[in-house]
Amino acid sequence: MITFFSDQQALHRDVKEVLSGELVPSFEVAQRTDIVLKAIETRGLGPVMAPAQFDTDAVLTVHDPDYVAFLRGAWDEWHALFPDTTQAMPYCFPARGFRSICPAHIEGRLGYYSADLTAAIMAGTWEAVWASVECALSGQQQIIAGEKSVFSLCRPPGHHAGRDQMGGYCYLNNAAIAAQAYRDSGCLRVAILDVDYHHGNGTQSIFYDRADVLFTSIHADPAWDYPHYLGYQDEIGVGDGKGYNLNLPLRLNSTWADYEPALLAALERIAVFQPDVLVVSLGLDSYEHDPISSFKLDAEKYTFMGQRIAELGLPTQFVFEGGYAVDALGTNTVNVLEGFQQY
Ligand SMILES: [Zn+2]
Repeated sequence: MITFFSDQQALHRDVKEVLSGELVPSFEVAQRTDIVLKAIETRGLGPVMAPAQFDTDAVLTVHDPDYVAFLRGAWDEWHALFPDTTQAMPYCFPARGFRSICPAHIEGRLGYYSADLTAAIMAGTWEAVWASVECALSGQQQIIAGEKSVFSLCRPPGHHAGRDQMGGYCYLNNAAIAAQAYRDSGCLRVAILDVDYHHGNGTQSIFYDRADVLFTSIHADPAWDYPHYLGYQDEIGVGDGKGYNLNLPLRLNSTWADYEPALLAALERIAVFQPDVLVVSLGLDSYEHDPISSFKLDAEKYTFMGQRIAELGLPTQFVFEGGYAVDALGTNTVNVLEGFQQY
């Protein structure tokens, strides 16, 4: 299986986030991809290739052009005003009762385009975010060219990013961009399976009113974990998209005994949909020792997960999302990919 990765992705590093009331080093660190690359090499998964270059036009069917322009220029604008700081972060949001307008000042626009305090922008963020998108698009092109499977080792991750919103370590939605690219390449139906511990709120919102892209997600009950305000079972899509959004929230501390039936239900829905291609938002934070999550999957279960996904028999693009138990991240990621290949 080919992996796409760019060294540029490490330019977004040493970020801080607000967690439990404190400004702390982000769990989303550059070392995450280092350890995955090492496992890919050690276990001989296949070649690691640099992505092709793409123009920003490639994402404008998924993301709002004003938002993309904001992301691209935010650091320079912030740094000119606050030269002694290392990252740009909002402190004010258009919450209930405010008007949903985009202000002129960079602080106002940061709040307008942010969902939370976990997606700071710094020098190098845009270059990393764009390289991550290029890994997603290069993977998509490989599948269109006839590969059965591909791994886009995207970082920063993407599934919390909405059409015009960043949050949850995500800026541009790599999986959604790939899914749309399949549609633009002539695929009639695209399925997305999101196995990250957290609900893929950005991906859901992008395709919520569409019947051509099925979104399925297994995640922690948002009543008790991030992103809290989306990801409930009664969100089934709207308009043409009604019936094409499947949320399978699980209780905190769920084990494989809870997880496997949900996975099989998602796969069954995908099989009925008869897509041309599958995009897997591959988060590994369902792992038992993940520092910010509560599920109890051990390393072996990721091999089972890969095997179950392979049973669909679909061309499949894996897109890297979360997973913060860095020491185990390489093993768990490659377990899924090997499980898929060995089936
Ligand atoms: Zn996650």
